[in-house]
Amino acid sequence: MLRKKKLNAAEELVHLLQLPPDVIVDHVEHALDEDTFFLNLPLQDKRICPFCKSNDCIVRGSALTQTIRHIPVSGRKISLVFSKRRMYCENCSSSYYETPYWVLSRLKMSIKLY
Ligand SMILES: [Zn+2]
Repeated sequence: MLRKKKLNAAEELVHLLQLPPDVIVDHVEHALDEDTFFLNLPLQDKRICPFCKSNDCIVRGSALTQTIRHIPVSGRKISLVFSKRRMYCENCSSSYYETPYWVLSRLKMSIKLY
């Protein structure tokens, strides 16, 4: 028998947008032909430094807000807004912004859209 899992409204949105299940939709802004979703991203357990590959990284400094484009839903443009934490690597003393694995930061779009 097929079991149905009950989703709350925020979980349904994440499912509809085909985002990872641990992403939280904080709120949505509707414009004429575009919806903007404001997301809270979970802090990753494994934080790998992109320079030395150490996982000795801590959150330090102020976050950066990024807006990316995502796959359209029902013909409406979708934008995602989230903040990227600034990370500091205690091994090589470099700092960088975390990037979710489903985001192409440089192209300002999600991998799904790409
Ligand atoms: Zn490092």
